Amino acid sequence: MPAWTPYTRVACDAQAEVCLQSLSVLRRSPTADYVATIVQSTFLTPTIKSVRLRLDRDEFQFLPGQSVWPRFEREGRKFSKIYSIASSPSQCREIELCISRVGWSSAYVQDLAIGQTLPLRGPYGLMTLSELPVRPRLYIAEGSGIAPLKSQIDWLLESGFSHPIWLVQTNPETSDQLPYAAYWQHLSQQCSSFHYRSATSQGLEWTIASLGLNLADMDVEICAVNDRPSQIQTAVMAMGARAEQVRAEKFYAF
Ligand SMILES: Cc1cc2nc3c(=O)[nH]c(=O)nc-3n(C[C@H](O)[C@H](O)[C@H](O)COP(=O)(O)OP(=O)(O)OC[C@H]3O[C@@H](n4cnc5c(N)ncnc54)[C@H](O)[C@@H]3O)c2cc1C
Repeated sequence: MPAWTPYTRVACDAQAEVCLQSLSVLRRSPTADYVATIVQSTFLTPTIKSVRLRLDRDEFQFLPGQSVWPRFEREGRKFSKIYSIASSPSQCREIELCISRVGWSSAYVQDLAIGQTLPLRGPYGLMTLSELPVRPRLYIAEGSGIAPLKSQIDWLLESGFSHPIWLVQTNPETSDQLPYAAYWQHLSQQCSSFHYRSATSQGLEWTIASLGLNLADMDVEICAVNDRPSQIQTAVMAMGARAEQVRAEKFYAF
């Protein structure tokens, strides 16, 4: 399947064919244990993979932006790492993860074959949407930080969100290969309210500033690795974003 193929029917412009009422408010199920089966595993860049999982039960419901904790066993010891869900809640009981290969856990999930299983617990996470927001939105993603933002954007577009959505994306590992880039370009051609920019060689912050957006009127959601979310947050606030309208999620290892 080409990376840009929408997994969902996207409600854009005149194509608003989904049931907007049922999509515009969401619920999450209580955190519980599931067993997931790998149904698809595709490289999005040389180091980032999309891994699609099918859960063993129907009751899993999550808010766009939430995560799951796969559980691992290594040398007789059990541990867990957290991964954001990259797909819309409308796709349950399938979920998509978007995973950067950095160490043992991420390599383990990337290397699972179709049909193999992975125990996990979820949903978790606070940088979510539970209803349609009221302002235009700016999404800023670095690397696999695109995952929770994609879940939100897919859900907003399915739900007929009427305000503009901007996505600015970069990937420090391979700056010329960005996860889902063809999908975002396709969406920006299909949806007049969705605007996509990959960061130029002058950098992410420069690219955001060059858009000339009125950030004081927007909600801003940032997701990146380690110190980058707080650096980007400081930069967008210097460009006029209001602190109470900015949220940042940090991917880090623990
Ligand atoms: C709320 C939350 C959501 C997350 N969602 C995702 C996700 O959707 N996709 C994803 O790929 N990762 C995600 N992570 C990170 C993930 O939980 C693991 O920490 C990551 O896969 C590293 O684990 P590892 O065992 O492979 O590597 P480790 O052996 O633990 O090594 C990690 C090292 O890699 C560096 N590093 C480079 N890229 C990353 C990265 N993306 N995350 C963490 N450390 C990184 C760190 O600086 C660290 O030194 C998330 C983390 C949090 C806190």
